[in-house]
Amino acid sequence: MLVTHTIDQTRRACCALRPLALVPTMGALHEGHLTLIRRAKQIAEHVAVSLFVNPTQFAPHEDFDRYPRRLEDDLAACRAEGVAVAFCPTVEEMYPPGEPQLNVSVPELARDLEAAWRPGFFDGVCRVVAKLFGIFVPETACFGMKDYQQLLIVEALARGLGLPTQIERCPTVREPDGLACSSRNVYLSKMDRQAALSLCGALQEARSRLAGGIGDPNEIEPLMRERMTQSGVNVDYAVVRDPDTLEPLQRIDGAAVLLAAGTVAGVRLIDNHLFEPAQMP
Ligand code: AMP
Repeated sequence: MLVTHTIDQTRRACCALRPLALVPTMGALHEGHLTLIRRAKQIAEHVAVSLFVNPTQFAPHEDFDRYPRRLEDDLAACRAEGVAVAFCPTVEEMYPPGEPQLNVSVPELARDLEAAWRPGFFDGVCRVVAKLFGIFVPETACFGMKDYQQLLIVEALARGLGLPTQIERCPTVREPDGLACSSRNVYLSKMDRQAALSLCGALQEARSRLAGGIGDPNEIEPLMRERMTQSGVNVDYAVVRDPDTLEPLQRIDGAAVLLAAGTVAGVRLIDNHLFEPAQMP
């Protein structure tokens, strides 16, 4: 496996590695990331992984400085998965001092939800993803459905810029107790974890209500919120939305996405469930 630190070196190495699938990550790899890498391997002959804690997607009050960094472990995991190139740039390599700031955004999909709770987050995501796509020009890039709004925005970005990269949607990977894998789960104590589990609990409950024929968001959303609040989650949102536009729904009579987010002991958690029409009664 080639470990690269500069854009030039990465670009040169990847020219010869076709077809290429890219898995962008912020490192601290867990089973969710590894599943993306495995999916990438099924799709393309060569897989590249980026390991970069992107400062532009963290607001000043967020955990950029204390975000888990485990580069050696991550490289070992990438090697074991048969990754061809691991790109680990410094912040200065990605954002050279003096380089003008670049804004790529998809305002229609970034009106609320994560955008409201994490100002600047999607601008940072779009900036780094656009740059990574420019460096690797991958045929495929794998993104997790765990970050559903981010996935829609990245899909819109790739389409909107006319990029040759297909976005592969990868299902959310969960720990055995149901908690969605996240690099931030390591911050949770045993007790916090019980509270955190109410996110997927609330989504499951909402899903069964939908399957049971309750189609009114005004009934479903308070149920989700209450379940999370009662478990000790500081709820940011618990909503049912259109799965393509993220617009609120008057009635749920087709596909919908259930989205939940909140903090537990200062740790921000998100989860979602895509409800397909086949699951309707
Ligand atoms: P991150 O390192 O958190 O920026 O995530 C890198 C990629 O891994 C993104 O496409 C995430 O959506 C994806 N990812 C993170 N957690 C999971 C998970 N539990 N299941 C599936 N994909 C995930």
